[in-house]
Amino acid sequence: MSAPAFPDTAAYLQSLDCVHCGLCIEHCPTYRLTGRETANPRGRVSLMRALYERRITATPAVERELDLCLVCRACESACPSGVRFAEILADTRARLRRRGALRRWLFSRLESRRRLHGLASLLRLAQGLGLAALARRLPGRIGRLAAYAPPIPPRRARRPLPARTPAQGEHRGRVALLEGCVMSILFAETHRDTARLLAAAGYEVLALREPACCGALHEHDGDPATARRLLAQLAAAVDDPGILAFVSNSAGCGAWTREAARHLSTEAAEDLGSRTLDWSRFLLGHGGALRFRQESALVAYDAPCHLHHGQRETRAPEELLARVPGLRVVPLPGTELCCGAAGVYNLDHPEESSRLLDLKLDELAASGAGILLTGNPGCILQWRAGVRRRGLGISVLHPASFLASRLES
Ligand code: SF4
Ligand code: SF4
Repeated sequence: MSAPAFPDTAAYLQSLDCVHCGLCIEHCPTYRLTGRETANPRGRVSLMRALYERRITATPAVERELDLCLVCRACESACPSGVRFAEILADTRARLRRRGALRRWLFSRLESRRRLHGLASLLRLAQGLGLAALARRLPGRIGRLAAYAPPIPPRRARRPLPARTPAQGEHRGRVALLEGCVMSILFAETHRDTARLLAAAGYEVLALREPACCGALHEHDGDPATARRLLAQLAAAVDDPGILAFVSNSAGCGAWTREAARHLSTEAAEDLGSRTLDWSRFLLGHGGALRFRQESALVAYDAPCHLHHGQRETRAPEELLARVPGLRVVPLPGTELCCGAAGVYNLDHPEESSRLLDLKLDELAASGAGILLTGNPGCILQWRAGVRRRGLGISVLHPASFLASRLES
């Protein structure tokens, strides 16, 4: 660990807020898996504080315990002292983590739409030629990356949103939809569905296409400098005061962007954070004009951690779904627990990631639902991989896509 500026870093000062009460422990997925004190939030805060104070060194065992954290933020929801665990961990990871060349290269692709789409085209070609299937047999991270990579949609399905989608009916205002990086490649359809919902609710939708990435994944991965640079670019790009809200349909991006003022002390960041909302929260408050068709399906809802814990949004998606006449929604027991996706956690810790997902797949299978809804791209991919592995025959969708498909025409 490089010489810390102990004791005056914000993260170190945050670590002092922990009073070791242990109320967070039972909420921690990695503690549930391992039972180790050093794999729970209290133990990890103690380790990080000891590192800052140079009472211990970063041995491989210490690094392993910190690396095993999902940054799911369940501990933040449970903590009565308001310890901002994710910020302490991001700072510590930035000091400890040696990010390899492949990792740095992959993350650098997220920063530019041109590079990102170039990589997507290459991957699609490789998948079409059967090279991805060969790569899956390789040992280590490349093999896992190839196994985890979802089918890349064709170029026409990756087309960006129209720059402007007009409001339907009475014009109630203007919003901007954050297109982002991974969402714009793998879930461009979800963007179109979200825009349809917003337009049907009476809002004109502007596509916020550049910068491609808000930096959420970089922060998660222990690269806060890049994360803040990208966030500053986003904040600088959104200075139109006529926009009522910046709407996000990716829970991880929304959580990071809404907290922009914590990470950058600029007026632009404060403005960005205060106007960013998850699509579900926006439509719960502004979607009175939405009408849905009768639907008799049984669907299960699973909350993404960065919506449930990061944004403390525990109601809006299910309350919106309750507006579909006849629809039966079952919340999954343990919805507040991470599914194991957690950025690229499923590549770094495939065993722990699978064990966490298995717990949730058991609940899904027992629920009898034919559709699972969850609002974060990484979670959707993780759930789809699990459902496929178990042969459950359950569709996994973003709730905005589900609702858009049930709009009254
Ligand atoms: S962020 Fe999640 S995995 Fe990490 S310590 Fe907190 S509860 Fe545990
Ligand atoms: S709940 Fe908060 S104060 Fe208590 S041990 Fe956990 S992190 Fe520390």
